[in-house]
Amino acid sequence: MFNRTIKPFLGLFLFAFALAAEAQTGRFQQAVDYKMDVKMDVQTNQYTGVQELQYTNNSPDTLKRVFYHLYFNAFQPGSMMDVRSRTIADPDRRVGDRISKLKPDEIGFLHAKSLKMNGKPVKFKEVETILEVDLAEPVLPNSTVTFEMEFQGQVPLQIRRSGRDNAEGVRYSMSQWYPKMANYDEQGWHANPYIGREFYGIWGDFDVKITIDKSYVLGGTGYVKNGAEVGYGYEGEGDKVASPKGNTLTWHFVAPKVHDFMWAADPKYKHDKIEMANGITVHHLYIPGEKTSENWEKLKAITPKAIEYLSKHFGQYPYKQFSVIQGGDGGMEYAMSTLITGERSLPSLAGVMVHELAHSWFHGVLASNESLYSWMDEGFTSYASSLAMSEIFQPSANPLRSSYGGYYKLAKSGAEEPLSTHADHYNLNSAYSTSAYSKGAVFLEQLGYVIGAETRDRGMLRYFDTWKFRHPNVNDLIRVMEKESGLELDWYKEYFVYTTKTINYGIKEVRPSADNTEITLERIGLMPMPIDLVITYKDGTSEMIYLPLAIMRGEKEAEKGMPERIHTEAWPWTNTTKTLVLTRDFRTIKSVEIDPSKRLADLEQENNKVEF
Ligand SMILES: [Zn+2]
Repeated sequence: MFNRTIKPFLGLFLFAFALAAEAQTGRFQQAVDYKMDVKMDVQTNQYTGVQELQYTNNSPDTLKRVFYHLYFNAFQPGSMMDVRSRTIADPDRRVGDRISKLKPDEIGFLHAKSLKMNGKPVKFKEVETILEVDLAEPVLPNSTVTFEMEFQGQVPLQIRRSGRDNAEGVRYSMSQWYPKMANYDEQGWHANPYIGREFYGIWGDFDVKITIDKSYVLGGTGYVKNGAEVGYGYEGEGDKVASPKGNTLTWHFVAPKVHDFMWAADPKYKHDKIEMANGITVHHLYIPGEKTSENWEKLKAITPKAIEYLSKHFGQYPYKQFSVIQGGDGGMEYAMSTLITGERSLPSLAGVMVHELAHSWFHGVLASNESLYSWMDEGFTSYASSLAMSEIFQPSANPLRSSYGGYYKLAKSGAEEPLSTHADHYNLNSAYSTSAYSKGAVFLEQLGYVIGAETRDRGMLRYFDTWKFRHPNVNDLIRVMEKESGLELDWYKEYFVYTTKTINYGIKEVRPSADNTEITLERIGLMPMPIDLVITYKDGTSEMIYLPLAIMRGEKEAEKGMPERIHTEAWPWTNTTKTLVLTRDFRTIKSVEIDPSKRLADLEQENNKVEF
C-alpha cells in the first residue's frame, strides 16, 4: 500500500532530478532496478536465478545493443584474466597461474539461459565475461524497458575477491556474481572484459531473495527484510524467530540507491550488531576462533568511530547500515559492506576495515568510473583512511608519508605511466597500484599545498555534496576545487594526471647584496608548482615568501601553522630560475627552505634547504 502510493511521486522526483542534472552538466546517467530470486545449492556450489531488470535510458541516444557483465566466467583456464595473470611481468601472487589449474567443479561460470525485453525474446551471445545483446526493438531515449533473464552460475574456488572456500574457510564470498548491466555514459559503453581489476556500475534499487541451506548465516549489501523469519541476529528486538519448515531459508534483502550487490554466507558466522547513536547499524560477521575473536571484539569500537570521522570530513554516510564481513582475500569494498580476511593483528584488521569503509565515499557514493579514474577511488580512499587511522587508531605525524615514498620510488623507476591510463592496461601491476593508491593520495595532499589545506578540506565536502550519486570525473573534481579556492587548477590536472612529468625545485644560490640578501631558485623538474619558501633567522623567527604560478591567477589563503607571508610574487612557468631580494642582512639568516611541510612531491629534496 505504502509502495503503491509513493511510487508515482518517487518516479516523478527521479525524473525531475535527472532533468535537473542534465541541465546543469550536459550529462545523463542510466538507471536500473533489479529484482532477483536466487537458489543456491551448497552441495554443488551452483545456483540458478531469475532476474527482472527495469532499465531506464536517460541518454539522448537510441540503444540497439546492451551488454551485461558475467564476471564469474573469468575463473576458467584460458580466460583473458587467466592469460593476463600469467603473462604480466609482475604477476599478482594471489592469482598467478591458479586459474589455469581449476578443475571443472572448481571453475566459475555464469550463463544466461533466456533473455527477454518487454516480454519478447532477444538475441544474445556470451563472449567470455561479457554478454552481448542485440535488441529486437531499440531502447529509446528517456524510456524504461524490462529485461527478464534466467541464469545459472557456479561459484569458483576462491581465487581473487569472489569465490567459495577461501583461505580462512569462509564458504561463500559472493561478489560480482549476478548478470550486471554494463554502464553507458557520455563516453559510451563500458563493457570491459574482466581481467581482475576495476568496476563501474549503475545506481538503482536492488530487491534480492536468496534461498540457501538453513544452517547458513548471511550478510552483505542491503537490509534484511524478513529478520523474524531468518533470525541469526537479524530479528528485531522482541521478535520471536519463526523459521519456516524445510531445509532451506529464503533471505530477503533490499538495497536502495546502490550500484552493486554483494553477499556472503557461512554456517559458522558469528553476527555482532552495533547500533550507532545516529541511527546507523554496523554488522560484523566472522568465524570465531583463536585468530579472530579477540580482535573482532575490539573492532566493534573502531568501526563506528571511523564512520563518524569519515562522515565529518568527507560527507555524511548516506545509508543506515554498514557490514564488515570475513571473506574474500585481503579486503574489497562493496555497496554498504566490505569483505576482508579476518585472521589479522588488530592494527591490520582495523587498517583494512577503515580502508574498505572509506571506499564507501569514493567507490560507493561518488562512484567515479574506477577503470578510468582508479586513483580517484583508491587514491582518495587511501588518503581518507590514512587520516582516519591516524586520528582514531594510531596517531602519526605524517599519515601520508608512505604514499609519498611509494610515488617517489615509482617515479624514479622509469616504469611510471600517467594516472589517466585505463586500469586494465597498465604494463605492470606495481605501476598500476602505486599510481592508483599512492600517487592518487599524493594528488590530494599536494592539492592542499597548492590551494591551502583548509580550502582543500572544504573542497572535499563540496565535491561530495555536488557529485554524490553522479559519477564525477577528474574535470568535475578540479572545477569544484577551482570554485572553492578561486584559483585556476587546470595545469595541476594536466601535468599530474595526464603526464609523468615530475617535480624538482632547488635553491641555487643565497648571497649577500649590499644590506640585503638575494635568493635564486631554480626549477629543474618539468612540472611547475607554486613555492612556499621559508626563511628562518638566527633569532629563531621565520617568514615566508610565496611564489604562486602566474597561471594560478591568484594566491592560496594563509594556512594555519605556517610562518607569516612577507612577500608574494608570481613565477611564470616558462622561467626556470627566479631571483628574489630579501630586505634582510645575509648574516641574520639561519636557513632557507622550500616547503618545510613536505607536501610538495619534490623528487630530489637535498637541494631544497640551505643552512648557514
Ligand atoms: Zn581500496
